[in-house]
Amino acid sequence: MKPLFRWLLDTVLPPTCLACDAPVEKEGQFCVACFKAANFVSAPFCRCCGVPLPFAEPSGIQKCAPCNETAPAFTQARAALRYDETARRMILPLKYADHTEAVNGLAVLMRRPGEPLLQAANMLVPVPLHASRLRARRFNQAALLAIQLARLTGRPLGLDTLVRHRETAPLEGLGLAARRAELEGAIGIRADADVRDKRVLLIDDVMTSGTTANECARILLAAGARRVDVLTAARVTDPRFEGLALA
Ligand SMILES: [Zn+2]
Ligand SMILES: [Zn+2]
Repeated sequence: MKPLFRWLLDTVLPPTCLACDAPVEKEGQFCVACFKAANFVSAPFCRCCGVPLPFAEPSGIQKCAPCNETAPAFTQARAALRYDETARRMILPLKYADHTEAVNGLAVLMRRPGEPLLQAANMLVPVPLHASRLRARRFNQAALLAIQLARLTGRPLGLDTLVRHRETAPLEGLGLAARRAELEGAIGIRADADVRDKRVLLIDDVMTSGTTANECARILLAAGARRVDVLTAARVTDPRFEGLALA
């Protein structure tokens, strides 16, 4: 009796927002309230790593201090949302549940700041997730976003271009040297991947310090990529990370 009741309930109930329980028109959407609460990354931001800046530079050169000091391996990084409570609610279903419809909602948001990078890209490459984590979560959220963005834009997909050789500890809260040491040799490029002369767009769900994106970009450039950019759903703008060098 119970499964049938549940089935009837699911059939009758309207689709709900991906981030809360509010009803929405179609499956795979965010409600108006969540959309309004979403904190989109807006200008001024660093034209290199995309981190929001407290004020516009009078010189007109919008670059954060770390990028000014040492340019990251990637050329540009852009994100749709500032990583706050709303962004976390929007992205979380993607990571830990079967909520793959969240992918479409997020991919649509990512096109807003990412369209020029998407159109210029020869290949969309997700930041790799280690196989053991992949089994636990069942999805690589970066891959899900890359697949959906490739679908929406018609750009070619390099799904398994980068591989994770070993598990890494979370990099949050570690200093630059410790983050670098943790990533040392953790990511590699598949032997038969061909990125020569390609403009690659790295895709991930959240960019924190940028160390992982930087390491992926370094590897792709070493393999002959012409240029590497980064597009993420959200960007951590915590001042603790803003002050840390990327490269
Ligand atoms: Zn909502
Ligand atoms: Zn920057």
